[in-house]
Amino acid sequence: MSNLRFKMVEAAIGRKALNVPVPELRPSEYFGCKVFNTEKMRKYLPKQVFDALQNTIENHTSLSRDVADAVAVGMKQWAMENGATHYTHWFQPLTGGTAEKHDAFIEHDGHGGVVEEFSGKLLMQQEGDASSFPNGGTRSTFEARGYSAWDPTSPAFIVDGTLCIPTIFISYTGEALDYKTPLLKSIEAVDKAATSICRMFDENVKKVYTYLGWEQEYFLVDEALWAARPDLMLTGRTLMGHESAKNQQLEDHYFGSIPTRVAAYMRDLEYSCLELGIPAKTRHNEVAPGQFEIAPIFEEANLANDHNLLLMSVMKRLARKHSFRIALHEKPFGGINGSGKHNNWSLGTSTGVNLYSPGKTEKDNLQFLTFLVNTLVAVHRHNGLLKAAISSATNAHRLGANEAPPAIISVFLGRQLSEVLDHLIDDGQDDSIKMDTKQRFLTGIAHIPELFIDNTDRNRTSPFAFTGNRFEFRAVGSTANCGGALTVINAAVAEQLLVFKGELDELIAGGKSFEIAIIELLKKYIRLSLPIHFDGNGYSDEWKAEAAKRGLDCESSVPLIYDRMLAEGSLKLFKSTGILSEAELHARVEVNWEIYTKKIQIEARVFGDLAMNHILPVASRYQAQLLDKVDKVVKLYQSTDVVQEIAGRDMMLIEKISRHINAIRAGVDEMVDARKVANKIECEREKAIAYHDNVAPKIEEVRIHIDKLELIVDNEIWPLPKYRELLFMK
Ligand code: ADP
Ligand code: MG
Repeated sequence: MSNLRFKMVEAAIGRKALNVPVPELRPSEYFGCKVFNTEKMRKYLPKQVFDALQNTIENHTSLSRDVADAVAVGMKQWAMENGATHYTHWFQPLTGGTAEKHDAFIEHDGHGGVVEEFSGKLLMQQEGDASSFPNGGTRSTFEARGYSAWDPTSPAFIVDGTLCIPTIFISYTGEALDYKTPLLKSIEAVDKAATSICRMFDENVKKVYTYLGWEQEYFLVDEALWAARPDLMLTGRTLMGHESAKNQQLEDHYFGSIPTRVAAYMRDLEYSCLELGIPAKTRHNEVAPGQFEIAPIFEEANLANDHNLLLMSVMKRLARKHSFRIALHEKPFGGINGSGKHNNWSLGTSTGVNLYSPGKTEKDNLQFLTFLVNTLVAVHRHNGLLKAAISSATNAHRLGANEAPPAIISVFLGRQLSEVLDHLIDDGQDDSIKMDTKQRFLTGIAHIPELFIDNTDRNRTSPFAFTGNRFEFRAVGSTANCGGALTVINAAVAEQLLVFKGELDELIAGGKSFEIAIIELLKKYIRLSLPIHFDGNGYSDEWKAEAAKRGLDCESSVPLIYDRMLAEGSLKLFKSTGILSEAELHARVEVNWEIYTKKIQIEARVFGDLAMNHILPVASRYQAQLLDKVDKVVKLYQSTDVVQEIAGRDMMLIEKISRHINAIRAGVDEMVDARKVANKIECEREKAIAYHDNVAPKIEEVRIHIDKLELIVDNEIWPLPKYRELLFMK
């Protein structure tokens, strides 16, 4: 068979699982062996240098050049002992992935030879060309130069013989050109705001940490089949393909036994994760066939996010080793579940208290409610902006599809917690908060720990769900840099905590007791945040109508959702918390629109090529075969009845194929025309809107005809691997 698809299917069938040897050491013995962590720092750095560096890491003090030089020496020694020959600054440009440029550890020795060298200067800062990365116009206003600067709070690590140093990436004039810079600033903002409140409960609190536990979903496809799908290769998703007869209807994949080849891949991946200090813990099949998940134990958010980005690149590399390709795209296949990256987010104090965990004492619970309610207010106030933070051309296919949260942000609290909040605001007049109210309230609160023992309430349809001791932001896309979403959550919560603290101070200054003042404010804010609280079915159409009535942001066009980043409230939010300037925000929105346009543009091109050069010729060929047969039948049998009996159905198919072919031709022409018009638009926003409104829908429209043809045309000549092959051959 000359058909490429069949050759590839054969190759995939012949594939065996790789043998992944079990490491001789236990995980606790090799965990972090490729990371310059505290243990290595202690070993490779002089005592004063180690202390100075720890001080910088913990208290964000600046690092002197001398100390940096000494750190560089120790780091280089460790790296070279572990096989590293190169180093790189490792940063997170707005493209979404990570970037690196490797340099060898060599310098001229002045005598015609070289020496291995690495200085504090090279460790701390490097110059790069910012104009080669998305910068949203900051380049035309400012210099093209960019700098990467060391983030000592995330330890360096070795991948493939290269020492990778996590860095931020900023323009010559200091504008952030990455995801890490604003994330770090937001972590600091929420630390400051939260600590000042926590200290009213416990003055021993020195710091509040942001925690992130992500859950990464992904699909694996055999590399041969992937290679025969230009759409997967170039866009990360299938732009066409009829649903497989068996999909996820039987619900037999979720938590099912893991196919051997995949299990080998997962084991390999986990070893790599542990070596790199990523605490990989959970693995399982996901809902869709061919879909899986990996989740680590949660960590401090900046580190956790670095680990997620590192994981995604390790996943890609190892997939190749196992003759797979990994689809991290949010919706690689139509009609079945897409992939998300749930962000489990919480705040915790330096004294070890999780601020979203109901406590044992009344005071603990008051603190818990303070943080919970202020988070509700923050999410309510900035629900549009939060949506902007997770919106992309790729995630748009997943949000609002039947298995994922809709493009509306709401918060799920669960029955028990909802009752506690209802109870709090349900006791009549605001101005009569007396002891008995307080008593009742506190009694109610004291019950929370018990109530939470049975916290089995797991609403899966909510984009922002409280899950007992943390919030789970589920709308984040599987390809995303979590930093985008986290920055907004942190910023919004920091802003609200500052407001709350100001009001609390005022009430206390006015003579109210601490408890009474807090309760009064909680009541006010619970009421204010009511519209965001929704425990029902987020997938239902009623919710869409209800959400609109409540004034929640219901916009579903991604380019328009990005407008929320420039809303007055958003500008104020980022300015007041010092996380992003107006210029930086403008640059980011521009980048978003630009990337949106480019993604759809590429899809449209690939789609046009596949439709015209892969599908139509094959459909025509099959149609010609049928015509041939009909022609012969007509020649052989004069009677129309007999002709009808033998070739009637073929004639119908011939017409059907014609109708689809014509629709595809016309649709592709319209798509090309729409693209031409859109390409002439100068304004990035308008261009993205044109791509959203006029180009993207054409792909879906024409696809239907191609998928219908797939059911008609002879299986033997269909050129693209079908869904059943892509999804079930592992
Ligand atoms: P599920 O799929 O049931 O939601 P998983 O076990 O796949 O749960 O993932 C839950 C994630 O939440 C893990 O990464 C876990 O470490 C993380 N997590 C648990 N507690 C917290 C917390 N307090 N803050 C942040 N993340 C947390
Ligand atoms: Mg999970």
